[in-house]
Amino acid sequence: MSPRGFSWSAAAAALLLALAACRAPVAGPGEAECPVCRCEGDLACLVVRVEADTPRTTLAGVTYHFCSDACRARFEADPQAFLPR
Ligand SMILES: [Zn+2]
Repeated sequence: MSPRGFSWSAAAAALLLALAACRAPVAGPGEAECPVCRCEGDLACLVVRVEADTPRTTLAGVTYHFCSDACRARFEADPQAFLPR
């Protein structure tokens, strides 16, 4: 219940949001990151489990997985907007 701890958490959350934008994946084994949600800092559905029916697309030999068909459609419409730089 320390105020210091609370403010640190808020700062960490803000930092995490900043780092989440269009950066390298942090997903673990068997997981992937939805590139659309990563760029938009939508951490709630950022990490997706890679399963047989997980929405995906392949671009220049790299397979990208998505949290939903909606995100896949947005990625396919403009991949450059969502790729890590
Ligand atoms: Zn998504």
